[in-house]
Amino acid sequence: MTIDTGPFAGEAADRTAHADELVGRVQHHLKTEQHFDPVGWRASELLRGLAGLDLPTRVGGAGASAADMTDTFRRLGRIDLELRDIAGAGHARLLTHARTRRFDPLLKDVASGAAFCAVAITEPGTGSDLHALETVARGGDDGFVLNGTKQHVSRIEECTHLIVLASVFRPHARITAFLVPSDAPGVSIEAMSPMGMSSVSWGRVRLEEVSIPRENRIGGEGEGISLFLRHFSYWRVMMAATAIGSAQAAVDAAMERMKTREAFGGPIGRFSHLQLALAEHVASLRMAWLLVFDAAGRLDGRDTAITEAAMAKAEAVERAIHAVEWAMTVFGAAGYDRETGLEKRYRDLAGMRMADGTTDVLRGQVARSLLGDRLYEAGLGRDGDHEALNDIPRRLFW
Ligand SMILES: Cc1cc2nc3c(=O)[nH]c(=O)nc-3n(C[C@H](O)[C@H](O)[C@H](O)COP(=O)(O)OP(=O)(O)OC[C@H]3O[C@@H](n4cnc5c(N)ncnc54)[C@H](O)[C@@H]3O)c2cc1C
Repeated sequence: MTIDTGPFAGEAADRTAHADELVGRVQHHLKTEQHFDPVGWRASELLRGLAGLDLPTRVGGAGASAADMTDTFRRLGRIDLELRDIAGAGHARLLTHARTRRFDPLLKDVASGAAFCAVAITEPGTGSDLHALETVARGGDDGFVLNGTKQHVSRIEECTHLIVLASVFRPHARITAFLVPSDAPGVSIEAMSPMGMSSVSWGRVRLEEVSIPRENRIGGEGEGISLFLRHFSYWRVMMAATAIGSAQAAVDAAMERMKTREAFGGPIGRFSHLQLALAEHVASLRMAWLLVFDAAGRLDGRDTAITEAAMAKAEAVERAIHAVEWAMTVFGAAGYDRETGLEKRYRDLAGMRMADGTTDVLRGQVARSLLGDRLYEAGLGRDGDHEALNDIPRRLFW
């Protein structure tokens, strides 16, 4: 039996050619479609194969490496940051960490573009502090009943399923992940208004006495945060790559403007302060790309790379925002005009600074790895059992 290992099989040169071809197809789609709909497009015949790129071959995916995927996300980000939703399984990839084949039928649907999973973690009362989540799951062997409210959930209207983090009390809270069909009785959604990334929906979801079978628990009770961290390590690296791509396109546009825009009798690119800033932004984005490259290599080597992914996402997004902001100034008033597209990149990246872990929180994770748990916990005002806390810094590259 031959296994179709998908578009990313073969030598590096082949993979680059496939990635070029895929990105070309997306660009073609962008030109021909009336409505920008990255999630909806996943099911289209022309873009077949994109949705399953980073899923295992057994569910119809291509099994692409994290390194290959970063390049795809970067190229898509160059076009538009919101194309982060067109390639790969998105948050459905969390299901691959559940040590079961139970979710394979759903993952097959994700690979074909027929299904899509949103992730519902943030609540009105808490976002960064996962231990303070208030959504509750009652039950056990016969299934679970979920109650709570989640908000700021991206792709809430497009998704077929929600991956929900909720606490099971036995007697202490054990944060657990659940798969909830978005049309399950008791699920209601309400739109919210983001300032960027608005080609997909964003909103609040209420879970009122939502019954789900036991099989919809993802992983074991109390494994929600570790599943979340494993998945978000990968996702943060991909988002870092997308952010870098978006900023690269802005810097390209700024370089062109430096050559063509004239002021005081010559091209503005002759001004050395613009030249030096250009060099600084390009170096900064390259440094961020090396963090992405390093984290992706570790993920491919089966390291969870939690700290490296946090570092890559925080630094890439911040570098990207600064670079786009600079590109806007190079354009003068035209940079403030929607027509140049820079303001959209800026607004989208501002959302990414918060989404999937804020820059501050991710930098806090890096500091925790360097300093050990004791100072980190003290910073959060949690006394804890200091004797039991791990005070041994993790070995980072220094
Ligand atoms: C575009 C976008 C898409 C999103 N998509 C989703 C989604 O699909 N699903 C979902 O569940 N959520 C989603 N979110 C929500 C996102 O995950 C949260 O915004 C994020 O986790 C932060 O939570 P919060 O907004 O409640 O901020 P808070 O946790 O209230 O933080 C507020 C401020 O305090 C800072 N802060 C908090 N704790 C610390 C700390 N320990 N150290 C230093 N600073 C700290 C933060 O950095 C931030 O600046 C999305 C958000 C955005 C903007």
